[in-house]
Amino acid sequence: MKVFLTISALLLFNLIFAQNNFEEHFLDKSLRLDYIIAGNSEATNVYFEQFKEEPFWGGSTKNLIDKFNFGDYKVELFDVETNILLYSRGFSSIYIEWVFTEEAKYLDRSWYESVTMPFPKNESKIVISQRNPQSQFMQIFKINFDPKNYFIVKDKHSEFKTVKLQYSGNHHEKLDIVIIPDGYTKDEMDKFHNDSKRFMEYFFAVKPFSENRDKVNFWAVDAISEESGTDIPGQGIWKNTILNSHFYTFDSERYLTTQDLKKVKDLAAYVPYDQIYILVNTAKYGGGGIYNYYNLCSADHEESGRVFTHEFGHAFAALADEYEYGYETADQLYDMSVEPWQVNITNLVDFDSKWKNLVDKKTPIPTADTKEFENKIGAFEGAGYVKKGIYRPTHNCKMRSNSTDDFCPVCKKAVTDMLKFYSE
Ligand SMILES: [Zn+2]
Repeated sequence: MKVFLTISALLLFNLIFAQNNFEEHFLDKSLRLDYIIAGNSEATNVYFEQFKEEPFWGGSTKNLIDKFNFGDYKVELFDVETNILLYSRGFSSIYIEWVFTEEAKYLDRSWYESVTMPFPKNESKIVISQRNPQSQFMQIFKINFDPKNYFIVKDKHSEFKTVKLQYSGNHHEKLDIVIIPDGYTKDEMDKFHNDSKRFMEYFFAVKPFSENRDKVNFWAVDAISEESGTDIPGQGIWKNTILNSHFYTFDSERYLTTQDLKKVKDLAAYVPYDQIYILVNTAKYGGGGIYNYYNLCSADHEESGRVFTHEFGHAFAALADEYEYGYETADQLYDMSVEPWQVNITNLVDFDSKWKNLVDKKTPIPTADTKEFENKIGAFEGAGYVKKGIYRPTHNCKMRSNSTDDFCPVCKKAVTDMLKFYSE
């Protein structure tokens, strides 16, 4: 019986896979759907902005359907005629972070957002869903796409040069990371190239990237800013830069982001990409990383090398921060009736679905943060910004502090799995 089921499952898998054949359904370029997301702590609305055709599809042509179920959002693309799911991807956004701020309780606010997918040959339906507090995806937006629609924006951008920092092979079978400068003037382009190479080497010094160098392409787009540096609102410093990055996001001094996602995406599209990294020309400590959205890091702080890979953990593998930050108890941030969706934190509601299989029988759960368990995998209290009720896999990890260059085994596995997904 078991053998029969396995064969049936294989046949079904082959059938679904055959139906998802890339060339049959997609052209080898990208479709971008831009929209405004707006609301407050209670409600969210989405408004269509534009469809845009972009020259490259940087992603895999084999792994089109998301198998990870990470992120606060999910975009799905269905063939209209057959209603078959052809593409899906989880992601998070700056808007959903804002929803949890005090400001969202008394102010309505809007953000420009954008999702990229392979360009469908036929009429398609695109659905965006947002997780509810119980962690289920609920549809918040739906739009039909007709490839013959002559309002699809086809603007070409060729103002800036591009550089292959490292080329390992065809972009469909590699993880492609594009580095975009912010706050580098025309005279600072050499500095940008040197900084980019320096960060690429920081990146490849960290496991599992060091073991997978041949699976990664690095690109750079020489986008020039009028002025050097970046905005530091809390100090009254404002610079005219191409991506309008700034510190003090949500009043957190070190949180470096940009709201100009349209410009970010326009510049990224110069090359094939899976991940966007914005390198900001400042020595001030800071960074930011949002899952399948973007990464930012300041170029010249002494800790920047470690920040670079930490932020990439967020943006690439949807890893949670494993540190405490401002919240005493878990129920202030999490629905404690369900597991948080991030792989590297748990509230022990369904620990079996997390890393319990990696825990030694002799290690108690929860695990005391003492010398005895310093090098063990367990469930250590204090993670995901809260002191009590959320647990992390080990005493220390790159997602917890800059004092280590190592991902814990749980985070390392998540990054390795994602690397494989993007490079086959
Ligand atoms: Zn970790």
